[in-house]
Amino acid sequence: MNGDHIKLYIPGPIEVSQKTYKAMSAPMIGHRSKDFVSLYEKVQPMLQSLFGTKRPVFLSTSSAWGVMEASVRNLVSKKVLNCCCGAFSDKWLDVSLRCGKDAESLQAEWGQPIDPVTLEQKLSTGEFDTVTLVHNETSTGVTNPLSEIAAVVHKFPDVLLVVDTVSSFSAVPINADELGIDVLLTGSQKALALPPGLSLFTVSEKAMARASEMPDRGYYFDFLEFEKNAKKSMTPSTPCISLIYGLAWKLEQIQLEGVTNRYARHEKLNNMVHSWVKENGFEHFAPEGYRSKTLTCVLNNKEIDIPNWIKSMREKHSLVINGGYGKIKGKTFRISNMGDETEESISTMLTALSDTLPG
Ligand SMILES: *Cc1c(COP(=O)(O)O)cnc(C)c1O
Repeated sequence: MNGDHIKLYIPGPIEVSQKTYKAMSAPMIGHRSKDFVSLYEKVQPMLQSLFGTKRPVFLSTSSAWGVMEASVRNLVSKKVLNCCCGAFSDKWLDVSLRCGKDAESLQAEWGQPIDPVTLEQKLSTGEFDTVTLVHNETSTGVTNPLSEIAAVVHKFPDVLLVVDTVSSFSAVPINADELGIDVLLTGSQKALALPPGLSLFTVSEKAMARASEMPDRGYYFDFLEFEKNAKKSMTPSTPCISLIYGLAWKLEQIQLEGVTNRYARHEKLNNMVHSWVKENGFEHFAPEGYRSKTLTCVLNNKEIDIPNWIKSMREKHSLVINGGYGKIKGKTFRISNMGDETEESISTMLTALSDTLPG
């Protein structure tokens, strides 16, 4: 590794390749021009295929939180149930309250998944019209049982399901239409390995109908504005055009790799990290069966000095992992295998981890 480049193995933002930066440096175009319409129309079918949807995929110039907040503002009329099991999902409750919505959490302990049975009990009260779920809780390394949860929500036809797939999208199969997800959203800087600043999302017809009756949706994140502009292959306001160039290139690369091969690669690389965890006497923070395929959240059961360890891998090997997020900082560490990683790059990283591991 050379110069000042510290390679990121943190679970977002993740490493962006030189080729991606190059794709992003195409000349600027007007966002109401034919050239932009072509760019938009180029990415649509590839995105629809990855989202597993026939609905349009909207492009939002914001990080994922923009669309997470937008979902609450556009859809929650009665009360929202925020499924909470880590830093990102817990925060969604806070965001709902800050939007002035009536909100309640279905709280799982950090490191545990959301329980579909408890969810069904909550929804049976008839109090809720919206559920938010973080598919892959990046802070704890837990993947929630999405199809089981979707099946529960579908027992309640008036309840909409909003799903954040920020750190799982394109790394594991997710089919929005088949699962009946009302809003499926993701961001650019995690599994897609693009720089931050772009979010992608779909909205079901049912959710669009709900939004059309909601007052005070604002402008920038109004779902109806996105739909109206999508009909012209455009975005409501000036989008991050360079990032969309990067996205178009990335989607082509995903097609070239083959999406099934991409899922298999993530699984394989994730298994390599899991082997390292076991060989080095560490334990997982997430229970078996619910462990993320894109990152590994490791319990610091050996009580090593994580900040010092990360400092030495940075200085000696020019790479970093993450030392835990929120209230489990120092008690856990997280290793990403998202994006463009290969067996070789994961192996290099794991060797560097072993080389600098204290004790
Ligand atoms: C990173 C992340 C977010 C927040 O995304 P921003 O791009 O910072 O808005 C939300 N949810 C999950 C699961 C994440 O991993």
